Parts: sequence; structure tokens; C-alpha cells
Amino acid sequence: MSTDPYVNFFSGNPLNRLSWLRTSQPFLNSIIHAPSTRWLVFNDGQPLALTPPDDSSSAVKQSLARLHTHHVRPLLGPEPFFAQGQNEGELAPEDVKSLEAARLRGAPILFLGLHETESSIAAALPSTDFSAHADIKTVIDNIKGDAYFSLDVTDVPKEEVDAVLKAAAVDASDSKLAFVEPRSAMTTLEPFEGAIFAEARCMVDWNARNKFCPSCGSPVHSAWAGWKLTCSTLLPWADNAGKKPCPTATGLNNFSHPRTDAVVIMTVINETGDKVLLGRNKRWPALFYSCMSGFIEPGESFEDAVQRELWEEAGVKVWDVRYHSSQPWPYPSTLMVGFHATASSDEPLRTDLDNELDEARWFTREEVLAVLAHAEGTRLSRADQKELAAAAEKTNPNVNEVPSAYAAAQAPTHPAGPRFKLPPLTAIGGVIIREWAHGCAGRQPAAAGSATVTVTTPNASL
Ligand SMILES: [Zn+2]
Repeated sequence: MSTDPYVNFFSGNPLNRLSWLRTSQPFLNSIIHAPSTRWLVFNDGQPLALTPPDDSSSAVKQSLARLHTHHVRPLLGPEPFFAQGQNEGELAPEDVKSLEAARLRGAPILFLGLHETESSIAAALPSTDFSAHADIKTVIDNIKGDAYFSLDVTDVPKEEVDAVLKAAAVDASDSKLAFVEPRSAMTTLEPFEGAIFAEARCMVDWNARNKFCPSCGSPVHSAWAGWKLTCSTLLPWADNAGKKPCPTATGLNNFSHPRTDAVVIMTVINETGDKVLLGRNKRWPALFYSCMSGFIEPGESFEDAVQRELWEEAGVKVWDVRYHSSQPWPYPSTLMVGFHATASSDEPLRTDLDNELDEARWFTREEVLAVLAHAEGTRLSRADQKELAAAAEKTNPNVNEVPSAYAAAQAPTHPAGPRFKLPPLTAIGGVIIREWAHGCAGRQPAAAGSATVTVTTPNASL
């Protein structure tokens, strides 16, 4: 019997990334002009968002601004946008690998994928459709779906960005168009937008942080529509006199690829299945407990990392490590990999090995269910939220995002607060704790009505 995989917030990306067309300048340079093409815009890691006019309620519902090409056109620089040659306005020669869909000048742009309205093998866009002799315009006209790009305006003069936002605001009716701090705001997105935001935020950040070749230290440039970075010594016109050839020039043409850092995160359950082990990081706000987690190290399997982290943080030996689901975490580019594992609750706990936790404790199912049922069990004050964000800078618990509806709660409104607090469902830690509490920590599928996020078709928005 097969079961559908669990879809966490930020995952379930509905875009067809069309990775085989990332080298195709005819496709990329043409589809930018398609009327249905949409742009996610970032400034210093902050996405451009739309906030509805009535923001007086505690639950401010923001959405990603999806600008049209005619909005952002002034910021894209001269054509060609991809496969730029040595001089402005020139198309790169076709047979130079380091120039495949390369962008040597202008604000960083990146092809995210196609949101297809029709997904079939007949509409699958083979790369041969974009060969030199193909009728590109007809192919583009026949594409059923909306292409998505990202644009990073961090280094664009402010007055140019402001002019574009002013023009786009005319189409935004009464909604406010502004760059927003993503960690809390993005958790109120529809699942579709959460997933494309995660892809774009990871890639924009990676392109912004990596400026030099890791092999020889020369500057790099963008290739493959933003999905690779290539050493400038590989450009056909590069003056490499007196330099040793860059190691990326030989063998596999080993360009720099985007990175994803895996973190294991796990619930530990006792042998009778009625208790769960949770921890409190020293930097977290009062009463806050969550799953233990940690980065995978080179030479480790996921299972190894689960066992090592639990030994280091709580002095616990675990076995029967079972995968649950994973969650992209775009701050900046982590993949949270969720597990359940088993341990004896009779053995002593100790947190003084790596000294990361303030406390590790076994909780009963009744205790956890009481917190989950409490109106403020996964609700954090603004002060709590700030503490978690600060802690996340130094560790990596994915608990630092809080729906703004929660964040808006300045102080407990319930006379009797919860005994402790747990992460919300937008973080995988909250999901796997809840799954255990509801009796779904074995190999069974998630119970109907539990926290599965469904990716829905987006509403048209600016
Ligand atoms: Zn190099």
C-alpha cells in the first residue's frame, strides 16, 4: 500500500523547474516577455509583499507581490537578459559552457520554474523545441502556464527601485507594496506562495553570498539562469597570463552548485510509546520546548546524525530511527529532515555533554495534548519571537517563525497559561510532536484531519 508523503509548509513546490532549459537562452530570453510571466522581488533578503489595506486586525494576511515583466523591465538592464556576451547587447557564442544562460551584468535574476495549468507529457517542453531552427515564438505562445522569475534589487539604486514600486502600486489597488522581514510574515502565506518563496529565498541568498571561485579565488558570474556560478577565468576573453589554470576548468567542469545544508530534527519516544523527550535550548524564551536537532556532518548518514545529536544533547542512546518528512528552511538554505526514534525513559538524562540545552525532559502524551489544546500552547509573544530569532542565529532550531496572528499577541490573554509551549505547525518540529501526540508516530499515514498542508492553485495576484 502506498501513502502520500507528508507536505510541510515551504515544501510541495508546484513549479515545474524545467532544469533542462536552464541552459537555453532562446527559452529564457523569450519567456521573460510572455504576458503571464511573474516576478518575485527581493531586497537584502526581504521579499516584496502585498499587505491588504485593513491591517488593524491581529491576523495580518500578507501575500507575495507577483509583478509583471512590464513592471520590473526598467530594472533588468539591456537585452539579452541571459547568455550575455563580452560587450553589452551581445549574445554569447553557443558553444561556450561557462556562458550558458550566463548573466555577466545587471541585477541578479533567476528562473524559478513554470506553474503549469496543463501538465502532460505532450506539453513537456523538450529542449529540442528551443534549438536554433525552432519557431521559438510559437512554442512560447503555446506554453500553458505562468513562468516565475526572481529579481534581487539589493544593489540597484533606491530611486530606481522606488520608481518601479510606485508604478506597480497603481495596479495593487489599496494594498500596500513593501519589502518585509520574512521570518514571521511568510508563515501566513498560502502554501503555494510559501513553497515558491522558499525556493526563491534560498537561491537569491546563495547568489548574493558567493562572489568568488572556491577553487582559485577569481570572481564568479551567474550561469544556467542563476543555478550555477562559474569562474571568470573560464570566459573566452579572460586574460589568464601567469595564472595556474583554475581546477574547475578540468575534469567535470566542476562549477559551484547551490548548497542545501541538512539538519536532522527528531522526536524521541519511549518504549511504551506514551512519553516524548523534548528539550529547552538555553537561548529560548521561558517555557518553550521543542525537538532536538542538529546539522549533519560529513561522513554521516541521517540515522548516524540522529543518534549522535541525541547523545550529545541529552546523553540518550536511541534506536529504531524512522523517517517522517522533510521541510525546506530558507534561512538561508537548510533542509530539515524529520524523524521519530525510540529510547528508554528509565535511563538518566544529561545535558552537560555539549551543554547546549537548559533542560531535557520526558513529557507524557496527556501533558503534550493539554498544551496543544490550549489557546496559547503554540502562541508566542513578540518578546518570545525576538528571543527565538536571536537564538536561531547561533543554533538552528526551526522554531523561530511564528504566524503573525500569534506574534500579534502581546501578552497572554488566558488567565491560566499553558504549562509549557511548543512550536507551531509551520515548523516541522511542531508537526512531528503533534503526530506523536495524536498516535501517528509509527509507520502509519497521518490521520485524516491532522496537519497536512495542501498546495492549492494560487489566486491571481499582483
Ligand atoms: Zn576558479
